[in-house]
Amino acid sequence: MPALLPVLDPAVHRLLSDDGNRLATLTNQYGSPLNIVFPHILGQNLARIANAFDRHAVKSNIFYAAKVNKSHSLISAAVSCGIGVDVSSLFELEDALVSGCDGSLICASGPAKPTDFHQKLIDVGALISIDSLEELYDLVALTGNWEQGHRTRILLRYRPINASASRFGLAPEDMPEALRFVAQHSGDLAFEGFHFHLGGYAHENRVQAFCEITEWVRVAADLGLSVSMIDIGGGLPVRYVEPDSYAAFLAVQNGDHYRNGIVPRSFYPYGGAVDATEWIDRFLLAVGPEDMTVGQYLRATGIAIGLEPGRSLADQTAISVFRITRTKNLPDGTCVLFAEGSSFSACETWFASEFLVDPILISAAVPGQDNAGEKPENGPVRAYVAGHSCLDEDIISNRLISFTTKPQKGDLLVYGNTAGYQMDLLENEFHRVPMPRRISISADLATVQPDDQKGTSR
Ligand SMILES: *Cc1c(COP(=O)(O)O)cnc(C)c1O
Repeated sequence: MPALLPVLDPAVHRLLSDDGNRLATLTNQYGSPLNIVFPHILGQNLARIANAFDRHAVKSNIFYAAKVNKSHSLISAAVSCGIGVDVSSLFELEDALVSGCDGSLICASGPAKPTDFHQKLIDVGALISIDSLEELYDLVALTGNWEQGHRTRILLRYRPINASASRFGLAPEDMPEALRFVAQHSGDLAFEGFHFHLGGYAHENRVQAFCEITEWVRVAADLGLSVSMIDIGGGLPVRYVEPDSYAAFLAVQNGDHYRNGIVPRSFYPYGGAVDATEWIDRFLLAVGPEDMTVGQYLRATGIAIGLEPGRSLADQTAISVFRITRTKNLPDGTCVLFAEGSSFSACETWFASEFLVDPILISAAVPGQDNAGEKPENGPVRAYVAGHSCLDEDIISNRLISFTTKPQKGDLLVYGNTAGYQMDLLENEFHRVPMPRRISISADLATVQPDDQKGTSR
């Protein structure tokens, strides 16, 4: 079975290879599972993404999609880099403000915003992406509370033709009315442009949506509305494992590689051929409106690209450490590793899929003493990983992972690159076990800070 070794940032690698067993010390101190955040890595990701647009001389407005991870230090890192924050709730908004984000750099792209959220967005001068005619009317109904002369900044979220089943965004049929209404209320609304966000990771359907939007840019212009930004949402791909090993794995995997005999029907493209910067190149070089490339169109019109990357900005920014509570031999010769923690903190299996990245085993055995790996019964083994709960579905890895030495009680399993919707999306206090701790660590690995509470890592 080809291994699925995680791609690791050098700082992560240094922490894992620390011979003073730093990870064991931290896990003893903070408990298992432990989520360790490396906020400085967000800045590295941002630089690559922003440079990709700069190379094409295309203006970009980047907003960190805060929902990707609950870490406060990641929001702070985004704010320190000077980019905006994309918020989907009053609470994400407050976090961004506490982290020092200027209200004018906040964008709210979520579909169902309650009135108090709208009001606060208006008050701080945020950019609001309008999802429906209903939202547009509701927003304008709040004008009574607005200060004299206050204009609320908006984008219109567009639902592309090929996404007609989606409940998000304004259908093409509704766009003329939306634009007419916006033009009519230009004393209250400052129209900045259009927005879309699509599922999946292909650039082709974004190019298609972009072309459709350029038609609406013209309609808007006829109504006296000028567009300064087209926001293409998130969905830039992240590479978790090398494409070659990933392809090799996919080619041979079958039911025997899973404890339940089932190969999940779909996976995130963990070892995709295209990374975030190449994705941007392909998007900007694709032929778009009026036989121009997307990049040429943007340069010619001076329109900026808006972007709300979540997963791609959080790439490599966290790892999750699980201590092994117990190992149990199974009749078929495989083994189950019970992790101290649950699949709610590594949640891919709850979406009927699997995190196709091998965890790294870090032995608790003290070198030279009782060297567990050298006993014959501790040779190679295939094992799946289960959580602590009584739910049969509480499985962290259904996949039978090959270990060269049998993991032992007290050893650590480290999942790399868990920041993106992985470690804390479904995290809860099931069985009344307290929430897993989240800590952040500095680039030089010298300083560790709690990262659980608002404003703790400013
Ligand atoms: C979730 C979301 C994003 C971020 O998506 P990623 O795939 O994490 O980059 C951006 N925009 C909107 C509207 C979203 O809902």
